[in-house]
Amino acid sequence: QRGSIEVICGPMFSGKTEELLRRLRRAQIAKLKVEIFKPSTDTRYDATAVVSHDLNSIQSTPIETSSSILLLGSNTQVVGIDEAQFFDDELPVVCEALANKGVRIIVAGLDMDYTGKPFGPIPKLMAIAEFVTKITAVCMVCGAPASRSYRLAAGRETVLLGEKESYEPRCRVCFNLDK
Ligand code: ADP
Ligand code: MG
Ligand code: ZN
Repeated sequence: QRGSIEVICGPMFSGKTEELLRRLRRAQIAKLKVEIFKPSTDTRYDATAVVSHDLNSIQSTPIETSSSILLLGSNTQVVGIDEAQFFDDELPVVCEALANKGVRIIVAGLDMDYTGKPFGPIPKLMAIAEFVTKITAVCMVCGAPASRSYRLAAGRETVLLGEKESYEPRCRVCFNLDK
């Protein structure tokens, strides 16, 4: 098979993990060898499983650095990566190397951090990907399609693991309301 890179991006609660799981399940139905990775720092629902907000899940391998994907993903046909924004800057190189060897890579992650800035390795991945799917959530203020993740909790660190109590999806207008 021909290798390629697919990126699924958007704000929190936009369905990135659901879409990733959907594509990976179809690959499994097609009897392809599938491997799923997530950063070991993401322990929100489960230490190993990739879990969506609707509590669908699939087993994955938690890893610390993106180069681990090269070792583990070498005789694999389809590689899924969730929460990719948390990985190091080597992730695009790693994905490129595997895609060049014929692996189908599906990467899901936040395209923007809570300040609206491009997040980690995702922007580079979007540039080198064959397919980019940008999806929206529902704005929790006005109900419009939401492109951004608004931080409700205090704190200025870029990475603050959290869920509904810490973040809500918002459209551009509502994201800028109290700025
Ligand atoms: P992501 O991985 O992008 O954070 P998930 O795939 O885990 O998203 O979850 C998406 C699901 O979250 C939706 O199908 C929906 O049931 C739920 N959800 C909760 N709040 C919202 C919201 N504000 N907008 C859209 N979906 C929401
Ligand atoms: Mg997710
Ligand atoms: Zn809004």
